[in-house]
Amino acid sequence: MTLPLHHPDDRHLFGYASGQERAGKSLLVATHLAYCPDCRRRVASFEALCGNWFEELPCPDHDGLDGLLDRMDGLLAGSPMPAEVARPRQAAATGERLVPEPLRGWLPEAIDTPTDDGRWQEISKGVWLSGWERTLSGTTIRLLRMASDAPVPAHRHTADELLLVLRGAFSDEYGSYSVGDVAHYVAATDHHARGASEEDCICLFLLDGDLIFLDEDGNSL
Ligand SMILES: [Zn+2]
Repeated sequence: MTLPLHHPDDRHLFGYASGQERAGKSLLVATHLAYCPDCRRRVASFEALCGNWFEELPCPDHDGLDGLLDRMDGLLAGSPMPAEVARPRQAAATGERLVPEPLRGWLPEAIDTPTDDGRWQEISKGVWLSGWERTLSGTTIRLLRMASDAPVPAHRHTADELLLVLRGAFSDEYGSYSVGDVAHYVAATDHHARGASEEDCICLFLLDGDLIFLDEDGNSL
């Protein structure tokens, strides 16, 4: 399988490494790491450089992290990748059909079964949300499924939205995303995703706030 092209940003990786990221996003980051040796290296370096310090870290204001991350970039330049980080993890090595842990233990089995099993709610033609839903520290976690070329209906989200591709591919005006890739949309971002693979695209879908579907005139449904 190819390596991911779209990664969680450094704030998410740093938050994960320091144990300060919210649980839902940590789950997404951990799953991305199973696919992505580059981000594993980055997280391992954060942990190696700041391990003890993380324990004393006050809950940082995310805006205050920028300067810190710049300094970390300097420290990271040229640091070798530890062997245990470079090695592909089992699920990533066995191919994209298998959702890696820790997410696999969390998901319903529906991700690995054919689609018409009654566990999906069709929100528009060829686009479904899982009936399965979890909330972790305020983040709603569901699965989003898009048939080939099916557009996700216009919607508005009032907080961050994060997607991680588990199967197939989708695209929007910002790029093309395939297995292991992360798409991050900040609140009020307009984006128009549609399935971009022959098989249905299935994504882990994280939302921090309400999701409002809109009609053609932009009014809430
Ligand atoms: Zn990555």
